[in-house]
Amino acid sequence: MSHKKDSAALQALDRSHHLHPFTDLQNHAEQGGRIVNRAEHIYIYDTDGQRMLDGMSGLWCCNLGYSQPQIAEAVYRQLQELPYYNNFFKCANQPAVELARALVEVTPAQFNHVFFTNSGSEANDTNIRLVHRYFDLLGKPEKKLFISRKNAYHGSTIASSSLGGMDGMHKQTRGLDYVHHINQPHWFANGGELSPDEYGLQVAGELEAKIQQLGEDKVAAFIAEPVQGAGGVIIPPDSYWPEIQRICDAYDILLIADEVICGFGRTGKWFGSETYGIKPQLMTFAKAVTNGYMPLGGVMVGDQVAKVLLAGGGEFTHGLTYSGHPASCAAALATLDILRSTNIIEHAAEHIAPYFQGRLREFEQHPLVAQVRGQGMFAALELVADKSSRKRLAPDSAGAIYCRDRANKNGLMVRQTGDAMIMAPPLICNREEIDILIEKLAIALDETA
Ligand code: PLP
Repeated sequence: MSHKKDSAALQALDRSHHLHPFTDLQNHAEQGGRIVNRAEHIYIYDTDGQRMLDGMSGLWCCNLGYSQPQIAEAVYRQLQELPYYNNFFKCANQPAVELARALVEVTPAQFNHVFFTNSGSEANDTNIRLVHRYFDLLGKPEKKLFISRKNAYHGSTIASSSLGGMDGMHKQTRGLDYVHHINQPHWFANGGELSPDEYGLQVAGELEAKIQQLGEDKVAAFIAEPVQGAGGVIIPPDSYWPEIQRICDAYDILLIADEVICGFGRTGKWFGSETYGIKPQLMTFAKAVTNGYMPLGGVMVGDQVAKVLLAGGGEFTHGLTYSGHPASCAAALATLDILRSTNIIEHAAEHIAPYFQGRLREFEQHPLVAQVRGQGMFAALELVADKSSRKRLAPDSAGAIYCRDRANKNGLMVRQTGDAMIMAPPLICNREEIDILIEKLAIALDETA
């Protein structure tokens, strides 16, 4: 069978039997898509032989790219030695215990405990249970409400998508009635005549207003991504996070940082909370903790919450068969080992991210680009048809979708959210590879103009 025929056969199977996440199922069944079957360094290859620079690190997870044999070997060794044992009741497996310690070492000082899940979604579900139990144990059972932000993405389970603020998901399944939403700090879209800092204070003030409206004694927690990722790489104005922190402290509201994308170097420090100087009591992680090699997520539980849980007595009735799966934990241990021994996060922050952000700023001259925003190895270009009126390129984001498709066709994997092109290249990119990314993006923009 020729290579081409292999590809066609695989595509036929894919169209006939495979329901894809976040995909127009009818369109996919009719037209099919790309099948990726190989990856190396920062490149992915599909069954038609196309090579693409992966400007998205997979799905914001392969921060170290695709050629890390140390991680693969750690998983293989672990599968031979102990392929599975759970962490329920009073058992544990060695990689889970060692990973718990390693995470305590790399996360901010208030975190000394971790609860493992398989994904970011499950970790955010776990947050809800942890928060409710915490306030129950404190004798404040009426403190049950969560506040989140519009356009936030916190996962796909019913509970985590309720925490999220994506309209499409809320339309499909009604969200939990104890989750409320305020606006995201999207200055470009909503700032109007205000300066970014004025707008940051105003939109953070919505949290205080919402707490007052719902009742301080009823609101338990505020959850947010340090930088909203899937919502469009929304870089908050400088004034935003200090004000949010002040409000959470003033009203005894737990702050949950969802670091599923920001964690492990994306924003320039190990965690987005560090980049923005906030001190969450709970922190969600997943994705890059294993460099995307194995599924693993979890919640880092800060001392304030852990102290109450550990003194509470009675069962924490929550857990997953694969919480702390040994092979996933082995992958994470190897990933953390690479991150620590190579100082890649610090290297990218110092030498690559400023170059990446600087080169992207050149697009401010492009007729279609109304705003370039970014932090570390994380960025978005906001596209418009006309800069002064901010007229949209096309209805339903068709312009940005077209631009993304052109980029993909030209060998660059980037994504589109609304009218923005979004990027999160691997931290291991060098400057020449950033140049290639910029060149391919420029071609896609010119083809869209
Ligand atoms: N939280 C954030 C900020 C995310 O970006 C994602 C996934 O993209 C999730 C949670 C959900 O993680 P998972 O897809 O591993 O369930």
